[in-house]
Amino acid sequence: MSDQSFHPPLRTLMGPGPSDVPPRVLEALGRPTIGHLDPAFVDLMDEIKGLLQYAYQTESALTMPISAPGSAGMEACFVNLVEPGDKVIVCQNGVFGGRMKENVERCGGEAVMVMDDWGKPVDPGKVDDALKAHPDASILAFVHAETSTGARSDAKTLAELARKHDCLSIVDAVTSLAGSELRVDDWGIDAIYSGTQKCLSCVPGISPVSFGERAQQRIANRSQRVQSWFLDMNLIMAYWGGSAKRAYHHTAPVNAMYALHESLLMLKEEGLENAWARHQHNHLALRAGLEAMGLNFIVDEASRLPQLNAVTIPAGADDAAVRTRLLQEHHLEIGAGLGDLAGKVWRIGLMGYASRVENITLCLGALDAVLSDMGADIKPGVALPAAEKVLAGA
Ligand SMILES: *Cc1c(COP(=O)(O)O)cnc(C)c1O
Repeated sequence: MSDQSFHPPLRTLMGPGPSDVPPRVLEALGRPTIGHLDPAFVDLMDEIKGLLQYAYQTESALTMPISAPGSAGMEACFVNLVEPGDKVIVCQNGVFGGRMKENVERCGGEAVMVMDDWGKPVDPGKVDDALKAHPDASILAFVHAETSTGARSDAKTLAELARKHDCLSIVDAVTSLAGSELRVDDWGIDAIYSGTQKCLSCVPGISPVSFGERAQQRIANRSQRVQSWFLDMNLIMAYWGGSAKRAYHHTAPVNAMYALHESLLMLKEEGLENAWARHQHNHLALRAGLEAMGLNFIVDEASRLPQLNAVTIPAGADDAAVRTRLLQEHHLEIGAGLGDLAGKVWRIGLMGYASRVENITLCLGALDAVLSDMGADIKPGVALPAAEKVLAGA
């Protein structure tokens, strides 16, 4: 027990999320709390909805933040759209597709799995086959950016396949939103969720979701009530909906919403396309450094996520010891491997505000120092010049 206030150590967050939160967003978070039905807060809610529509590139009015982390956004999509007996095609190529399966089954639905190897994107050919083999399926669910491996799947093609077979699409965009190209309306995505702590670089704990026209109809035509009271969109809309009269549903995390608003403003100021380009450009510089050092990417170039760089751990390096030393000596957090990839890879995030030149330099310098000192099988002294060459060539 301690009677001291908590002062976190200063860290640079280059793992799979949370990512570095910019001072502007932290400053917004500390502004005075007002009531969750205060007219000024209701105005802010409307602004947040508008900014989220921009971030998602959708016109859908049913676009709003769920007051809980990305996992709750995932659950909101499934509990509202899946009823007992519904058949859902679920694509799995990493950890998060497995959670989608869990969600389908807990809603009483039947999950038909389309499996791809970890590190590979979802194979549209297999998805097409599954949709043909199961004409009674009504939903296709997949992860756009698999944070456990760093693989990006072709969300546009997969959403098109869903439409072609009269299925709704549920898309996990927790790591892709604001980091990789994503166009909800143009691509015909029906339901999508994300998180605030990845490429939006806001504090953790909020999940932006969006439901398109067809998804809204499906919710309206349900034969049973949504089994979750908290995540029932019909009830949430009484508080977040467009009508002038807002009714209490739950107490929104008011200050976290200030932070979300600020991070979305920063995204708008930068421009969505510019943010995507920045993530890609910084990824190429980090990649040049990592590869020069001798670390290998586990995902093919064509489907590599710029915001999540999964590389193999070199011989002679002790996974946990390296990450501990990075944290203690360089105040730098990188991610460990998850599931099947535990102990085999590191996941280096360049998400949102963390996707900056100084972070690339810090990370490559720190890895070079720690791995060289440990006698790991890398080429020392070459990572930084290789990255700088890419940065200078821009
Ligand atoms: C982080 C993440 C989640 C879960 O988000 P939480 O905010 O941790 O609940 C879901 N899907 C993907 C792809 C993620 O990267």
